[in-house]
Formats: sequence, C-alpha cells, structure tokens
Amino acid sequence: MPSSTGLLRAGSSAADQLTVRRHNLSVVLSQLRDHGPRSRARLAEETGLNKATVSSLVSDLAERGLVREGGIERATVGRPGQSIQLDGDRVVAVGAEVNVGYVAVLALDLRGRVVVERRIALDTAHLPPARVLGELAGLLGSVVELLAASGVRPVGLTVALPGLVETETGVLRSAPNLRWTDVAVAAHVRALLDDPPYPVLVGNEANLAALAEIDAGGPGRSADLILLTGSVGVGGGIVAGGQLLRGTRGFAGEVGHLRVRGDGPVCGCGRTGCWEAAVGLDALLTAAAPRDDPVHDPSRDVEQRLAEIARRAAAGDARVLAAIDEIDRWLAVGAGILVNVFNPERLVLGGYFAALQPWIAGSLREELQHHVFAGATGSTRIEFSTLGFSGAVRGGAAQALDRIFSDPTLVGHTGEHLPVAQEAMT
Ligand SMILES: [Zn+2]
Repeated sequence: MPSSTGLLRAGSSAADQLTVRRHNLSVVLSQLRDHGPRSRARLAEETGLNKATVSSLVSDLAERGLVREGGIERATVGRPGQSIQLDGDRVVAVGAEVNVGYVAVLALDLRGRVVVERRIALDTAHLPPARVLGELAGLLGSVVELLAASGVRPVGLTVALPGLVETETGVLRSAPNLRWTDVAVAAHVRALLDDPPYPVLVGNEANLAALAEIDAGGPGRSADLILLTGSVGVGGGIVAGGQLLRGTRGFAGEVGHLRVRGDGPVCGCGRTGCWEAAVGLDALLTAAAPRDDPVHDPSRDVEQRLAEIARRAAAGDARVLAAIDEIDRWLAVGAGILVNVFNPERLVLGGYFAALQPWIAGSLREELQHHVFAGATGSTRIEFSTLGFSGAVRGGAAQALDRIFSDPTLVGHTGEHLPVAQEAMT
C-alpha cells in the first residue's frame, strides 16, 4: 500500500533530485516510526518505492545513525528478510525551557521515549537574561556530555519560552514575568553551545506544551484542545482541527492577559485585571501562605513547593483551601470564555493546576457550567495534564524530533555503514 504522504518523482535538475531524495528518506523513516520494524522488501511494497531505492535510502539513514538492522522478519511469501528499525540509541532531540523559577532540559530518543530530564530551580525573574541563558547552556552541556559518554548525539534543540516568541527570527519579543524584552535567545544559546551542528529553535511554551499534549493523547489524538500552562504566567496552546493556532505573528494563545477582573491585582504586563494575575502561581502562593513561608522560596523546586501546598490542603489548612477556592472561581471565568469561543473537545490544565487537581477539579467543573452558553459545557471535557511541568520541554523535544522525521538530512552522516544486506541486492 503506498504511503499516504505520496511519492515524488525525480525531475531533471539536481535540486529536484535532492528534494525527492529528502522526501523519500522521510517516507521510509516515518513508515518505521508509525508501523514498527520491517524488511526492506516490505518497506518497498508499502511505500511504492523500488527495492534498490529503498536499500539505498536505508543505508543512508543508517549512516546518519537513524536506523539499524534488527532481527529476521519471516515473510508470508518469499524468503525471510533482515528487518530494519529505528535506532533508539544514537540520536536524541532536545527540548529546553526557561520559565519563572527554573530552567529545564529533556531529551527524547527517536522513538519518542524520555532519555534524560533535568530541571534546576533558578530565580530567573531577578537575573539578567545572559546569566539565565548561561545557566541553561551549562545544563544543556552537562546533559549532552552525559549522552555523549554512551555514544548518543543531539540532532535538534527547541527552547521553550514564556512570552511572545518570533519563531522565524529566534527572538523573544516580550516575557513580562521574566522581565525580558527583545532577547535573541536562539542566537545567544547557539553561541553559548559553540555553534552546534544541529538546528537551535525557539517556541512559545504553551504552544509546545499543547503539542506534547497531543502526543500524550496517543492514537486518535484529539484535534480540538486547549492546553493551559499553570505557572506564574498562564499561557494557552490552542489546537483547532488538529492544527496549532499561531495567529498572524505567532502570538496567539496569550490567554493569561484576558482582562477578566476589573478590580484585580496588577499583572506582570503592567495592566490590571489580567486572568493570570488572578489564577497564576503567584496569586495562589500569595493567598495561601505568608511572605516568609518556604513555599515562596525561589531556590526550592516548584514541584516540592506545590507538594507542600498539596500536603496542607489534604490536612485541611483553611488558608490554603480558601486560596484554592478563589483560584477555582476565577479559573472558571477565563475557562468559560475559552470554551465559548473555541468549544474544544478537551481543556487540559497543566503545571500547578495539575499538581492540585484533587482540589481544583470538582468545583471547576461545577463552576464552569455557569459561564458556558452551550448546555453541558458544549461537551468540553476538563482534564489535567499528566506531564506536570515537563509539558513544554517535552513539546520542544518533540518538535525537534518531528523536524528530523520531515527531513532526515538535517542529521549529518556519522561515517558508519550497515553491513551489505543480501536480499537488498536481488
Ligand atoms: Zn497581563
């Protein structure tokens, strides 16, 4: 059965032939990802490419460290063939994140499995960008070194950022909660990593977390979802009809700055009444504990601090429970607007919302009914992300990985070759 991506026939020019080659490498690599190990003969049959071409494409992919030979595949007709599979041990795609209170790194292997994840608490909002990016590069360097020791190399990096990100230029235009304006993050990170031989991209953290959420949904991924990040800022990743809604400059989804509360606190952006000023992590912590309480300590990991809040909620701490109730009330107001506008299949709450799910879920579902025009909230389901604070780094790594599947030539040759396979010659 031919691949759904279709085949391209070679044109006359060298550029055409390169395009065709790139496309066919992508077809073969994607077939192995989507359907598992299979012989060259079967790949040829399924993709509609001829056997000699498949054999050459497989050798090329192997030299890039992307596939290797596996066991013998017993064919129903003809003789058994050596099966080809994704090589999960030689390359990784990396996601990184700068957010309020931490920097983080996560690497995925070719099969999408997490190979390594690191996060360090850092008071990013009170440090200059150069210092924060230096810390991030240091963390990246230590992860790359660890992987290199077992023969694994990175093939792409996407840095997730909490604000208005221009993906084409790699510039973070504005991140009020970090107090950063016009920082050329991609260029800066690339320089700090000594100009690595792989692409360094940037993306909005909520958009990337939404992509991770689609992946986490598994087969039959929902085509309409909104992911809400739950950090000091609250961002929205909006997926409509299976596509991430980016807007004209890629700035869509800044739902944290919906002005929902005229008498509300001042937001990091300088306006009054923004949704994230009412439901962001700072709003929760300020209401839940006095200023000198350790839950405010930026040197402690955010998940540890939330575990302490959850412990107090479970113990019936009246101040913490009242703080969560207030969050819930305002969460429903903004969520109601989003559900009315987008009617998503799922509204997925990440970050700290997910950490406090037992206290947030029930009353949010109840409260939301009052804000949504369609009956039964238009069938929108409220869900909590299982990715916690890893959504954005994971989405960043997944995006870097997708680029490799779309264009395997982004990965350079390693100089290693597959043993010549007999059946490929026939
Ligand atoms: Zn704002």
